[in-house]
Amino acid sequence: MWMTRHRNCEVLVVIFCVSELLTVGLLLFSHGFLLTRQVIPSNSSCDDFRDPKPDHRGETGHPSHTGGGCWMMPPFRKTIILLIDALRYDFALYNASLKDDDTLPYQNKMPVFGEIVKQHPHQALLSPFMADAPTTTMQRLKGLTTGSLPTFIDASLNFASEEIEEDNIIDQLVRHGRRVTILGDDTWGGLFPGRFSRSHLYSSFNVMDLHTVDRGVLSHLGEEMGRGDWEVIVAHFLGVDHCGHRYGPNHPQMATKLAQMNEAVLQVIAGMDNDTLLLVLGDHGMTQTGDHGGDSREEVEAALFVYSPALHLPSPPVHTLPVAQVDLVPTLALSLGVPVPFSSLGKVMEDVLVTAGMSAEEAEKQRHLGLHLNVQQVKRYLTAYRELGNSYPQDLWHKLELLEGKALEKSSVGGQRTAFSEYLTLAKLMCEEIWARFDVQEMLSGLCLMLSVLLMAGLLIHSSALTDIKTHIIKRLLILTVVVNLLFALSLSFGFVIFGYAANVLILLWMYAHRQHLTVSQLDFKAIDCIPLLLVSFLLLGSFSNSFVVVENYVVAFILLSCITLYLLLLMLEIVSKKLSSGKMLKVFGNAFSVTCGTGWAAAVVCVRCSGWFWRCREEQHWCLPGQAQVPLSGLPQHLHNWRYFTSVLPLALAVWLPRRWLLLCGNLNGSRVGVVLARTVPVACSVLVAVWWAIQAVMAAHNLDLWGHVIPPRVIYAATAVHVAVLACVPLLIYELPPAASRKSQPLVSDNPSTLIPHLYKSLMEKYRTQNSKGPTIPIVYGLATGLSASMVAVLMVVVVVVVLVAGDGLSGAVLLLVLVAAASLLLQALWKLKTCHNLKELARPGWSAACLWFTLSIHGFYLTGHQPTFPALHWSAAFVGVEGAQSVGNWAPALLVGLNTYSSYLLLGLALPLVVVAPLALSVVFPSLRGSRLEGDEISRGEFLLVEEPDMLRESLMSTALSYIFLQAAKVFCTSLAAFVLRRHLMLWKIFAPHFIFEAVGLIVTLLSVLAGLGFTLRVQAALASWGERLVKAA
Ligand SMILES: [Zn+2]
Ligand SMILES: [Zn+2]
Repeated sequence: MWMTRHRNCEVLVVIFCVSELLTVGLLLFSHGFLLTRQVIPSNSSCDDFRDPKPDHRGETGHPSHTGGGCWMMPPFRKTIILLIDALRYDFALYNASLKDDDTLPYQNKMPVFGEIVKQHPHQALLSPFMADAPTTTMQRLKGLTTGSLPTFIDASLNFASEEIEEDNIIDQLVRHGRRVTILGDDTWGGLFPGRFSRSHLYSSFNVMDLHTVDRGVLSHLGEEMGRGDWEVIVAHFLGVDHCGHRYGPNHPQMATKLAQMNEAVLQVIAGMDNDTLLLVLGDHGMTQTGDHGGDSREEVEAALFVYSPALHLPSPPVHTLPVAQVDLVPTLALSLGVPVPFSSLGKVMEDVLVTAGMSAEEAEKQRHLGLHLNVQQVKRYLTAYRELGNSYPQDLWHKLELLEGKALEKSSVGGQRTAFSEYLTLAKLMCEEIWARFDVQEMLSGLCLMLSVLLMAGLLIHSSALTDIKTHIIKRLLILTVVVNLLFALSLSFGFVIFGYAANVLILLWMYAHRQHLTVSQLDFKAIDCIPLLLVSFLLLGSFSNSFVVVENYVVAFILLSCITLYLLLLMLEIVSKKLSSGKMLKVFGNAFSVTCGTGWAAAVVCVRCSGWFWRCREEQHWCLPGQAQVPLSGLPQHLHNWRYFTSVLPLALAVWLPRRWLLLCGNLNGSRVGVVLARTVPVACSVLVAVWWAIQAVMAAHNLDLWGHVIPPRVIYAATAVHVAVLACVPLLIYELPPAASRKSQPLVSDNPSTLIPHLYKSLMEKYRTQNSKGPTIPIVYGLATGLSASMVAVLMVVVVVVVLVAGDGLSGAVLLLVLVAAASLLLQALWKLKTCHNLKELARPGWSAACLWFTLSIHGFYLTGHQPTFPALHWSAAFVGVEGAQSVGNWAPALLVGLNTYSSYLLLGLALPLVVVAPLALSVVFPSLRGSRLEGDEISRGEFLLVEEPDMLRESLMSTALSYIFLQAAKVFCTSLAAFVLRRHLMLWKIFAPHFIFEAVGLIVTLLSVLAGLGFTLRVQAALASWGERLVKAA
């Protein structure tokens, strides 16, 4: 027993070490690829830059207040900022030529901006307000307050609400005695704890809730404006954004919401003083489906409306120029008389600094001064950033210095202003470029590390090392892994590049030292292996082409179908050639075997073809029409509710009923063992709860209820799943032994009930012992022994599938069923192929590359099938709220985990189910004896999976080789996407296509590694339990 456990552990150690080393390589590459911006902890202060001509101050004619301005005389005393989340530019435009009947729900609903601009062209302006991607609210708030540019990796930190430590406008205001009142989204409270003099914050967490935040803001806004104790009011409305997430922009609710916002803006304008500046702005836009996060025009083009009775803008230009969102920070700072935050890269909107009381000459000076201060501040930041050891592109830096010199040379004020403007624009451009810069050496060493681990995995699969695995090799592999990780930890202070190459050398040395064991003994690739491998390698090479990545869902479906069809063709060929040689041509297509083949193939083809219903459109797929699967039940029109509910519950029921039927057929749900009772009840109960929960959600949404009950069902399901999995891991046997007394009565070892199969597989084993025992009166009857190995896994998968459906949402339950069906059909075809062609158990239990390719393609297909795309806007954020009520009650990890589960459900399911690939042929041959190939000896194989329990070494070897092949293919895909990101790092589409593709694949690999390890560990646990059960039985006999 101890030996079994020990050897089982060795298998896990091998897989763990390979996974770990791969992960280290991947991390190394990512660290070089996804560089983050260095934050400088300095703050700007009043004394940094002084108004060069102090006598100039008194002339502006504006009264000095709260100690006057810092760098220059502030034109405004107070500011009101209305932040309407996701206010897209075209939501704010007014198009008089559109008739009321022709307008879309989001058009012409905010006429206030157009009217004010028309009435007061010198006091108001409306322009596009360009966000920098990623367009998530958190990143935008950081950009809007610090004036700095986000870096790519910031996108994934959306859930990690953390205090802003970099110099920012809120801190500058507070430091200089301005009182800031905040209303609305509680994200502000997390970003700036303790800064606001007064606050009314509401949870932004529930995107389904359109009204709580807005109503809260509106109920306090008038009262707050009437108080005298503020200089800045920030009111953050969330309704428009949440309406987008829930219904999309094309929904009557959006019209209502925008009209409400219009009313709010009107009221604020009516209650404004003359020396107050009003800014109405969106932090980002939204796509046609109401999402945001990416960098499409619809997402980055928000609206900005500026108005003050005291403003004096120059005559409006013919075209409104877009304003960058970072420009808000210097504009706000200078117009309120506080220093511009240290790291701000924005360019002040100099026209907003000019008020009606100034003469033309004063106005010109005011603009000039604003820009000059702005240039000095940006230059100081660039210099400080360079002094930290960062370098700029030589040509751009040189050009900046030239521009600065030119500005000082210019005699005319206008000429200087142009040069200042150019300087600021170029500085921002340069920073955008350097923050998209990579550590090439680190990326290279990460790639090398991954490549050598891939080589090691490939050699392990094909060498004799797996056949008779030596303990000392495994020990050394473990030591190698530990050393590499120690090096990794050390390199945190020495730099990663040297570490990367050192680790690489170590791995190569290890392989060289074990070359005897790692020599490839024989490479016999058959057609069934070569063709899928060729197809998969096309898929891998496709990572280098942007148009290929865009249509990857189509390509993967095609490859999957090709692999499945290849199985059918080769099987048919096999049958025909055999029949031909035996001269019996007649019954080729009529027998059970070919009928099963055909059915399995047809089912797989239909399921793969149907997957198109659930695909999500990428922005680049112009031809693609979004389906309704992504819309939750509550978002659908009323008349579709019943239809949707039915089409969601039915697949869920089937996804549970089919595996349950299988377990019943195998006899694994008999008796009263704890595991059996759970497997009989938990999946069914959970699926009923899911159906109930969908109904609750729909009712709640229709009647705007806030039922406490909507978090209870998911939590019960999570808990039940955890218990189910934990219990099955402890007592994994799903078999039932009739007591010997009963067996004596019904002497023939076949049950009276023909519907339950009673494999009397233990017979042969018992006979072996009976010879020693001479008389054996007690031969037990055991239900479900022949599938004892896979049954527990199937029982676990059943309940995992229910959780996956729960998190995927009601629209996608059909997709999960399709995934389960295609997986089952693939297992069937692969098992049939094995049964037809194998000569012995050893061959039968080793699935080979063809099965790994099939499983690998299926995992990627499943990713697309469940409505995903490797782009950030395509993430299903709604999954974060399944069973989670508010941000306060749980940390950030629960929502992140749920979104992860939603995104990577196919990688998780297929990784866990990988051991089924090994045991499927044996299970099938027992349950359907007519499918057994003639080449396999009848008596042996009737013991089914128990054969592998008796031959643990064979089981370990084939589990290891299957897991390694599967991991090899997944890692090869990640390697190719990394290499593509490396080679194409200057490609126009890098941040749009290649980088997100890499990130999604990399996380997918991590999920795969973890789930393969878990699945393997579980199967080995079942094997050990079955083996010890057998030993006990033999002793008892
Ligand atoms: Zn937002
Ligand atoms: Zn949003």
